[in-house]
Amino acid sequence: MHFTLSEDIKAIQETARRFVQNEITPRVAEDEKNHTFQRDLVVKMGELGFYGCPIPEEYGGSDMGFLAHAVVTEEVAKVSGSLRAAFNMQTMGTAREIIQFGTEEQKLKYVPKLVSAEYLGCIGITEANAGSDVGSLKTKAVKKGNTYILSGSKNWITYAQVADVGVIYAYTDPSRKYKGMSAFIVDMHSKGIGTGPTAVKMGWNACPTGEIYFDDVEVPEENLLGGVEERGFECAMEGLNNTRLTAAAGAVGVCQGLIDEALNYAREREQFGRPIGQYQMVQDEIARMIVETEAARLLTYKCAMQKDEGMVGNTLETCMAKYYAADVASRVADGALRILGAYGYSSEYPVERLLRDAKLYQILEGSANVQKMIIAMDALGYRKANK
Ligand SMILES: Cc1cc2nc3c(=O)[nH]c(=O)nc-3n(C[C@H](O)[C@H](O)[C@H](O)COP(=O)(O)OP(=O)(O)OC[C@H]3O[C@@H](n4cnc5c(N)ncnc54)[C@H](O)[C@@H]3O)c2cc1C
Repeated sequence: MHFTLSEDIKAIQETARRFVQNEITPRVAEDEKNHTFQRDLVVKMGELGFYGCPIPEEYGGSDMGFLAHAVVTEEVAKVSGSLRAAFNMQTMGTAREIIQFGTEEQKLKYVPKLVSAEYLGCIGITEANAGSDVGSLKTKAVKKGNTYILSGSKNWITYAQVADVGVIYAYTDPSRKYKGMSAFIVDMHSKGIGTGPTAVKMGWNACPTGEIYFDDVEVPEENLLGGVEERGFECAMEGLNNTRLTAAAGAVGVCQGLIDEALNYAREREQFGRPIGQYQMVQDEIARMIVETEAARLLTYKCAMQKDEGMVGNTLETCMAKYYAADVASRVADGALRILGAYGYSSEYPVERLLRDAKLYQILEGSANVQKMIIAMDALGYRKANK
C-alpha cells in the first residue's frame, strides 16, 4: 500500500488546482446563477488532458490511470459540481465504456474525440419510469437491414441538449428482461432525435440535464457497442462501476471545498470577542468533517488503485466508496452550513451552492440505497458484487 501520490499525479493535481483557481472559481457563482453551460471550460479541461487519465495513449489518453482521474476530479469538484460532470460524460460513461466494450473501429473513431472534448458525450440509461430499476427501461432498437431503428425516450440525461455522441441503452429483445438489452453509440445530431430540459434543478445549474426523444432514429449496425447484441445490461453495470468512482471522487472534492470554506470563516468570524474557531463545539464539527472526508478519500483512492492494478470489476469497493463519500458530503455540508450560520445560508458565500452540489451525490450513479443493497447482498452471500 502506498499513501503518497506519484510525482506525475502530483503534477496533474497541481495543474488542476491552478486551472480551478484561475478559470473556474472567478465565474462559477455567476454561471450557476445564470444557468450558463461552460462549454469553453469543458473543452479547456480536455486540452489539459484531464479526461485522458484512464485512457490508453493509442486512443488519445495519457494512461496515467484511475487514481490520477480521481485526483483531478476531486480538484474540480471542490468548486464546481457542474464541471465535475464532464469527467463522466467525456471519460467514464462514454470513452472508458467504449474502451472496455467497443470494437477497435469504435475506439479509434470516438475515444480520442471524447477525450479531447471535440465531441461532448452523454450516457442514456434513465427513463421516466426506469431509475434504480434499470431493467425496466422501455426504449427499443429494432433491426431493419443494416440499421437499428431506435424509439423511446430518456430522462434526466446530463448533456442531453449539448451532446454530440451518446452511449444509449435500449432493448433489442424486450421479452428478455435485462438479457435483451443492448448498448449503442448514437450520433446525437441524427434525424429523429429531439431534446428538452428536465425540471429546474436544485443545483448543478451550469450543467444541462434533459430529456431525449428517439423518434425512429436510424442507427447504423456498426454503432452497436462491441458489435454484439444483448450485452447492454452488463455494459451499463460496468459503466456504473466506473462512473461511481468519479462520483465518489466528486463527493470527496465537495467535502474539501466545504471544509476550506468553513476553516476560513471560523478563523475570521468573531463572536463573544474571539474567533469562533476557538470554541470547542466548532472545533468538534471541524474535526469530524476532516476525519470523515479523509476516510472517504481513502476508500475512493483504494477503489481507484485497485482499478489501476487491473481489478476493474471492483463493484463492492466502488459502491462502498460512492455510498460513504456521498453520505459524508451531505454531513460535511450540514456542518459547514452550521459553522457559517446566516452567511452559510446566503449566496454571498459558496457554502449554500456546495451544499446543493453535495446532495446530488446521494442520487446519481445509483442511489445510496442501491449501493447499500449491493454491499449487503454481497456480505450476506446472496449475490457476489465483484466479478
Ligand atoms: C442531475 C441529474 C443528472 C443525471 N444524469 C444522468 C445521466 O447522465 N444519465 C442517466 O442515465 N441518468 C442520469 N440521472 C438519473 C440518475 O441516475 C437517477 O436519478 C438515479 O439512478 C435514481 O433513480 P430515480 O431518481 O428514478 O430514483 P428511484 O429509482 O425512483 O428511487 C427513489 C428512491 O427509492 C429508493 N429505491 C428504489 N428502489 C429501491 C429498492 N429496491 N430498495 C430500496 N430503495 C429503493 C431509492 O434509493 C431512492 O431513495 C441523473 C439524475 C440527476 C438528478
